[in-house]
Amino acid sequence: MSDDPRSMADESLQLLAAEASADEQVIDGALRPQLLADFVGQQVVREQLSLVLDAAKARGTAPDHILLSGPPGLGKTTLAMIVAHELNAPLRVTSGPAIQHAGDLAAVLSSLAEGEVLFLDEIHRMARPAEEMLYVAMEDFRVDVVVGKGPGATAIPLDLPPFTLVGATTRAGMLPGPLRDRFGFTGHLDFYAPAELERVLRRSAELLSLELTAEAAAEIAGRSRGTPRISNRLLRRVRDWAQVRGSGVLDLAAARAALEVYAVDERGLDRLDRSVLEALCRRFGGGPVGLSTLAVAVGEEPETVETVSEPFLVREGLLGRTPRGRIATPATWEHLGLTAPAGFVWTGAGAGGSTLTSRSGMVQDPLPDPDT
Ligand code: ADP
Repeated sequence: MSDDPRSMADESLQLLAAEASADEQVIDGALRPQLLADFVGQQVVREQLSLVLDAAKARGTAPDHILLSGPPGLGKTTLAMIVAHELNAPLRVTSGPAIQHAGDLAAVLSSLAEGEVLFLDEIHRMARPAEEMLYVAMEDFRVDVVVGKGPGATAIPLDLPPFTLVGATTRAGMLPGPLRDRFGFTGHLDFYAPAELERVLRRSAELLSLELTAEAAAEIAGRSRGTPRISNRLLRRVRDWAQVRGSGVLDLAAARAALEVYAVDERGLDRLDRSVLEALCRRFGGGPVGLSTLAVAVGEEPETVETVSEPFLVREGLLGRTPRGRIATPATWEHLGLTAPAGFVWTGAGAGGSTLTSRSGMVQDPLPDPDT
């Protein structure tokens, strides 16, 4: 294993990224529950969705449009597939980035069958003109197809059969109000508790015909960052270890050894996460330090640090974001086994996030933070 920060980060990105890699989408598919009853956790969303679907089935109509929001890897695609499966309806899958022109959307909408479920992933990344077309389609089941160009162009209204749109987004806040308002049901998915991830792991192990001990399931769940996709991915790495170096059984020793190979610690932090925290504390005295400066210090792109490492570190209370830059928290120092410099005063999370009010006696003065 190389110590080059770039390749270290690449490993991290593959193993603990919540997004699926291309080949993983196939594996994900095999492990996806098909019924709401098999979908682990997310009790509130599950119950509400079950009501929406049962009511639609009883009425014999297409259910309201459904918006699912939440971080990657928590089950939005899986739920969209479950909706179609439960309704016994065909499913069409597309995504915001694939819809760059209104015409792209018109082509999809005009070919929908009655009752079809249209899954639009990353709906916040759809082009603006398409958004407006979607409003009308969602509300009036109609699409205006523009024929011709320039002053001679005419809009021909085309009636659509009733369909159900399932939109998914990692950024609900980026959706324009009028679009959000057209969804009859909105469900927000949250990170999973370790016990729920253990259930996901047990289910996956069964589907893959693996022998997974309870201790190993707990160990993997604890390192999965609250994300089923990561649980399933770590499970496969533990399987590799158990089959190649162990007895074939996925037990605690196999789980620990495999996760050590990939440098995933007991809290689910990987090398990149630890490099960020080490740099923050050792090189910048706990901050505040700007994102770009911090990224340079760990040899990564600012965007990678911001999207891959930070959300988890902030959630774990290991990193604070302030208007002046990133700062260490008492938990950061403790996690690294370091002592905070004299004068490091942490006042906890304020209304606008974590705040650090006094840092007199810090090792170094705050850097200007143009990039936070
Ligand atoms: P998202 O669309 O939110 O990125 P996915 O629906 O693709 O996430 O889920 C990623 C993987 O995690 C899939 O393989 C799926 O089987 C698994 N998964 C997600 N949520 C659950 C759940 N609640 N129960 C069981 N498996 C789940």
